[in-house]
Amino acid sequence: TKWVYTFGDGQAEGASNMRNLLGGKGANLAEMANLGLPVPPGFTITTDVCTYYYENGQSYPPDLEQAVESALARISRQTGKVFGDPANPQLVSVRSGARASMPGMMDTVLNLGLNDETVVAVATAAGDERFAWDSYRRFINMYGNVVLNVGHHHFEEVLEVYKERKGVELDTELDAADWQQLVGQYKQIVERETGKPFPQDPKEQLWGAIGAVFGSWMNARAIKYRELHDIPASWGTAVNVQAMVFGNRGETSATGVAFTRNPSTGEKELYGEFLINAQGEDVVAGIRTPQDITEQARIASASTRPSLETALPDAYAELVRIYKLLESHYRDMQDLEFTIESGKLWMLQTRNGKRTAKAALKIAVDLAGEGLITQEEAVARVEPAALDQLLHPTIDPKADRKVLATGLPASPGAASGAIVFTSEAAEEAKKAGRKVILVRVETSPEDIHGMHASEGILTTRGGMTSHAAVVARGMGKPCVSGAGSVRVDYAAGTLSSGGVTLRAGDILTIDGGTGQIIAGEVKMLEPELSGEFATLMGWADSVRRMKVRANAETPHDVRTARNFGAEGIGLCRTEHMFFDARRIIAVREMILADDEAGRRAALAKLLPYQRQDFVELFTIMQGLPVTIRLLDPPLHEFLPHTDAEIAEVAESLGVPADKLKGRAQALHEFNPMLGFRGVRLAILYPEIAEMQARAIFEAASQVSKATGETVKPEVMVPLVMTKAELDLTKVRIDTIAKAVAEETGVTLDYQVGTMIELPRAALKADDIAQTAEFFSFGTNDLTQTTLGISRDDAAIFLGDYTAKGILPSDPFVTIDREGVGALVAHAVAKGRATRPNIKLGICGEHGGDPASIAFCEETGIDYVSCSPYRVPIARLAAAQAAL
Ligand code: ADP
Ligand code: MG
Ligand code: MG
Repeated sequence: TKWVYTFGDGQAEGASNMRNLLGGKGANLAEMANLGLPVPPGFTITTDVCTYYYENGQSYPPDLEQAVESALARISRQTGKVFGDPANPQLVSVRSGARASMPGMMDTVLNLGLNDETVVAVATAAGDERFAWDSYRRFINMYGNVVLNVGHHHFEEVLEVYKERKGVELDTELDAADWQQLVGQYKQIVERETGKPFPQDPKEQLWGAIGAVFGSWMNARAIKYRELHDIPASWGTAVNVQAMVFGNRGETSATGVAFTRNPSTGEKELYGEFLINAQGEDVVAGIRTPQDITEQARIASASTRPSLETALPDAYAELVRIYKLLESHYRDMQDLEFTIESGKLWMLQTRNGKRTAKAALKIAVDLAGEGLITQEEAVARVEPAALDQLLHPTIDPKADRKVLATGLPASPGAASGAIVFTSEAAEEAKKAGRKVILVRVETSPEDIHGMHASEGILTTRGGMTSHAAVVARGMGKPCVSGAGSVRVDYAAGTLSSGGVTLRAGDILTIDGGTGQIIAGEVKMLEPELSGEFATLMGWADSVRRMKVRANAETPHDVRTARNFGAEGIGLCRTEHMFFDARRIIAVREMILADDEAGRRAALAKLLPYQRQDFVELFTIMQGLPVTIRLLDPPLHEFLPHTDAEIAEVAESLGVPADKLKGRAQALHEFNPMLGFRGVRLAILYPEIAEMQARAIFEAASQVSKATGETVKPEVMVPLVMTKAELDLTKVRIDTIAKAVAEETGVTLDYQVGTMIELPRAALKADDIAQTAEFFSFGTNDLTQTTLGISRDDAAIFLGDYTAKGILPSDPFVTIDREGVGALVAHAVAKGRATRPNIKLGICGEHGGDPASIAFCEETGIDYVSCSPYRVPIARLAAAQAAL
């Protein structure tokens, strides 16, 4: 087996299509080398080695060492330096790189190969003592932390004390002698904490670092990230070993990161940050505030420090040439990492850049407009779930706001919540159902869970590419970073700015679009869905086969669904219309009545309300299909609870309260989910279904007459398990339809169908389709009844089931393809066999889940129906499924 792939000097053994083997970073380093770009030479140890390592008790393939030796020799041939040679040492970085990019999860060690001897040789060769000792102390710190598990803070503290004694504030104010002093102290820390001296042998250092990269694949942070992003542990990580280039060699050296387009807005502009005389992660770690790359950005940010464009114009011109080349080569926005050593630019990484949903839309539409990708590719580029970000509120520009401070607009959207200062507090609050804003000086990978639990994130340090900013954009959470004028006091639990002090628990609003930090709650605006959003949705609609409907019943929700592009109502839950204060008494009268006559009297009171509901619904939907489900929930959900409520109904009915109480108790059910509900109500109390059918048909006739549109009601009978149930109910509905047609003179084009939400119904779908003109898969109940899991009680154990891999994912979020999916597929086939033109839809939560939507496409379902806010997501997901 070939375990090691080399790159450098205009060629490479790998290429960008080998990311499974080489990891994303290694594959793209190889690709850049193949493109002839300036990449420091190096090699990639494959992900196969990682797999081998974990399958063989954390050991390496026997022939790996030899392969590494010859790859190191190949570096030497290009640089003229030798790894481990005390007189002419080659220094390297050891970098992890998994198949999917995992920002900040894995640890990189720089300047490896330095020891007490080689540091002197490096100083002599560079003619720069300070540079050599600065590199050495960085190495001890990084290696100590990543490989030897010595807490970063040990080194930080020593450095802080040293700077304080010397009376300086910045690292750049320390000279060679200072760093040499600190190297001595750093080595002592390592010896104290590990019981062993800092390793001086470069070979030992190298294998220690390689082992640490493979080891970090299984650290808690990496595991958590994989869990959140559905990355299988079996993928493994690669290790990249690469010749060092130095951004910390003085005023003509620098390190930086750049995006080929703005990752927040998608604007076509080189966008990024850099630091002169700095190394590696200095830019993102927020140690010093970075400088802008372009002059245009510097002017926009009113920075007094020069841009890269003016500070190092030649390197800047080279960066511009390369970024354009890389973007058109990869046909996507790139996220670049580079270092400039003594004026020469070196590329250290390129990858498809993470971006906000807003930017993703704009970039996809722009790239298609520029002819770099097709419209179908543009549709495929935008992750449907990410659209969620765009469908969220922003601050009303007219709202009064008390702006405390302004930081960097690191991730768009606005959010309000109670202040918390730790990720633990954020998680606790989330569990208790409270909304919080996580406020930190800066975030680290340990904060991922807290960021997840928060509505938004505020940091006082770090730039637009800081950890907080990158992770928040990925999560689609609002983030304001680098709010330097805000003081956070963790110990006191306070945040202060401009004389105002807020405490943990106080409400704070952040606007990730402007960077504003506002005390208290602020009025928000609904999102605007035009421009690129409309363009891309149009492209999606033109490739999509399945229709998208919405689950909605209130006029507000139905209108929202229409605005989001719903092509019908897939589920109107009539019971939601019964909770209105004016109606609930009549509903209760109906339920508690002794006999049919009593029920009919109560239902007569409800009829005009219900009819008016449907008039509004049909009017808004303008002739689009509307599926109305007959009353479904167990009746006890409507029962009065308090004595006052019971008294109210008793008075209205003219019966004693005690009698009512008895009747209510008689309706108690042990397992209402499987009890007296759904079609069972219509069988025992057909007058309820009749009232609802009458309301539907009268409303449809009225709207048809008034507007001239053909209203197409679809009456849906829930929880059917046998054809006989549906037969009995359909006769009643048809009779009412006929009566209403005679009364109004309008003959309606209506259908009667059923929900398939019980396994028996799915199994007997051929029978049921003899009566049903449509099926709508109620996958919430179908999942509950197929798995025998009550959704409301699943929380206790379902998490463990997915964590242990017993279930691939939460079956209430993503359809259980093998079980529930098999039943759906069976019912689709049987239903069509009986009635070839039967209309098939899905109306469970799954109708808005992209993975489940893909299943619906494969199964040949005609439409999905989901909550109004998910309609755009479903439109895009349905388009991607059809591609
Ligand atoms: P991450 O995956 O966290 O981005 P990287 O492996 O990209 O980690 O390393 C982080 C940073 O370290 C790089 O952006 C670069 O600035 C620096 N770096 C890595 N390798 C080298 C090298 N060979 N020479 C100079 N700098 C390097
Ligand atoms: Mg990193
Ligand atoms: Mg990197």
